[in-house]
Amino acid sequence: SPTIGVFALQGDVREHVQALQALGADVVAVRREEELDRVDGLVIPGGESTTMIKLADVFGVADAFRRRISEGLPTFGTCAGMIMLADRIVDGADGQTTFGGLDVTVRRNAFGRQVDSFEAQVPFTTFPDPVHAVFIRAPWVEQVGPDVEVLASVPVVLDAATDDDDERADRIVAVRQGALLATSFHPEVGDDLRLHRLFLDLVDM
Ligand code: GLN
Repeated sequence: SPTIGVFALQGDVREHVQALQALGADVVAVRREEELDRVDGLVIPGGESTTMIKLADVFGVADAFRRRISEGLPTFGTCAGMIMLADRIVDGADGQTTFGGLDVTVRRNAFGRQVDSFEAQVPFTTFPDPVHAVFIRAPWVEQVGPDVEVLASVPVVLDAATDDDDERADRIVAVRQGALLATSFHPEVGDDLRLHRLFLDLVDM
């Protein structure tokens, strides 16, 4: 079985470890370059992206993550992890950088102006039944490059001066580009393992 690393400098590491172990993967926490070198795939959890990049810089591992992801390491980012994989951020903290790899623009804390946290049944192109998705100060994907496949979107009501003017639009919350997978929400919360299984399939490909 593949060895999957979970980025463990910050975030909800344990939930991902449990989901991956339930699917039979060997799982290691990754904080150092030697640990990163050993893995066949990487998960970047939810948490706080500004803290994640700060700690990765302080511990001198940010470039190692950047390099391995750009060289094709299969990687699954959830929520803050999606931000870490994005090539471009809108509404990031001052000077906020990422590991990158995914040709998308992500808006940080995107749903915040309407509602901080919410749950929704989200239809996916890859599954017959919707995914029960937990969003916590979640980003959305605002723009995708040509190699990015959109897997799921949710309808949002855009702010308007009066209720009558409210405009509805779909916002992208799950994408795939080659062996990179990212969701705005937290599939590691709850016992639906379909997205982790999809990721392990990408690792095997
Ligand atoms: N808002 C957080 C960030 O910017 C992400 C929140 C989450 O991972 N639940 O990193």
